[in-house]
Amino acid sequence: MNEKILEIENLTVSFDGFKALNNLNFSLDTGELRVIIGPNGAGKTTFLDIITGKTKPTEGQVRFKGRNLRPYAEHEIAQMGVGRKFQTPRVYLNLSPRENLELACNGTKDVFKTLFRKSPARERRTVQELLETIGLSHKADMKANLLSHGEKQWLEIGMLVAQAPDLLLVDEPVAGLTDEETELTGSLLLSLAESHSIVVIEHDMEFVRQIAQGQVTVLHQGSVLCEGNFDEVQRDPRVIEVYLGQEVHTDHDMSLDNTADLLEIAGNAEG
Ligand code: ADP
Ligand code: MG
Repeated sequence: MNEKILEIENLTVSFDGFKALNNLNFSLDTGELRVIIGPNGAGKTTFLDIITGKTKPTEGQVRFKGRNLRPYAEHEIAQMGVGRKFQTPRVYLNLSPRENLELACNGTKDVFKTLFRKSPARERRTVQELLETIGLSHKADMKANLLSHGEKQWLEIGMLVAQAPDLLLVDEPVAGLTDEETELTGSLLLSLAESHSIVVIEHDMEFVRQIAQGQVTVLHQGSVLCEGNFDEVQRDPRVIEVYLGQEVHTDHDMSLDNTADLLEIAGNAEG
């Protein structure tokens, strides 16, 4: 079964005539984990803004579970099952992880959601299960402001999962994390991918290598430049050119073994 959870056709988004997204086509299978990469300004954030309803398409359409999202407001789209993780964690710092997760679990009893779920909503995980999933059982009752940056990121991912979204959109989850936290974040996303459809936007190429099991999509100038598995993408001459074309500020030795190094440097340069 290859049912599509997300189908995007001929999508164009103009800001005063500038096309941040330009005739973009994209689709995601139900249950798929997709990584999206692309140089600064490629349109990645705008792409997520369109799916969540923050920005409306100038042309083209987005279908989520077969439904055209154009008429729906951002909060309605969230209630239909689209969850977004922003780059900066948004958790209640004066509450504990357990309390944050309890709020997230209780905040979604909504008629609208029930109406729009074709199938019964995914069985909700308990707070204890969520704490285990995100590796914070041992810190469940301390104030969230005492957590490390990485732990706050995991807590926010847990809060998203608590709302039982069908599609998880994750924007640069490892920016500013230690290597160890980065690896743990990858493992967390891979375990969530067993039961969710997920789109991850990312620059850190080691991290992309860790989590990209299937297709990677490269965005450039508002369109899909290429798609393929990690190895295919990092070998693609068009991808190399796009990343070389952007100004790269780095102290690294420029004799690069492969595109992954190059992509990583470009990603770091972007910050
Ligand atoms: P990325 O996340 O890949 O770096 P963005 O989606 O943030 O790229 O931006 C794509 C392009 O659209 C950039 O050139 C950016 O300056 C432009 N852009 C994004 N949002 C707006 C806006 N609200 N108004 C005008 N231009 C915008
Ligand atoms: Mg961005």
